[in-house]
Amino acid sequence: MAIKITEECINCGACEPECPNTAIYEGGVDWELAGKVYGQEDTAPSGAGGFYSSDFFYIVPDKCTECKGFHDEPQCAAVCPVDCCIPDADHVEEEGVLLARKEYLDGIGR
Ligand code: SF4
Repeated sequence: MAIKITEECINCGACEPECPNTAIYEGGVDWELAGKVYGQEDTAPSGAGGFYSSDFFYIVPDKCTECKGFHDEPQCAAVCPVDCCIPDADHVEEEGVLLARKEYLDGIGR
């Protein structure tokens, strides 16, 4: 399961530098994966959509591993002062999938 940032986000930016996968982007900023840039209208390679935000920080499901392979708990959730980084019920995944993604991201340099 990926983590998502809810609209309670206060745009403090504490989470972004903590993400080992560069999965967190500031609202309105395009995101990147494997050298390709994606915008608000784009669907992620996995088919995931609806995660982009123009107003507050957001997490790209195709890049989030719940910090598996790096930490014991999601680092964004650990540092968020308003607890708005929560499990995303729309993107539920098994640990094996998350670890495979970590390997993939390792391979492409994120
Ligand atoms: Fe990044 Fe970890 Fe938060 Fe996922 S759970 S967005 S990998 S810091």
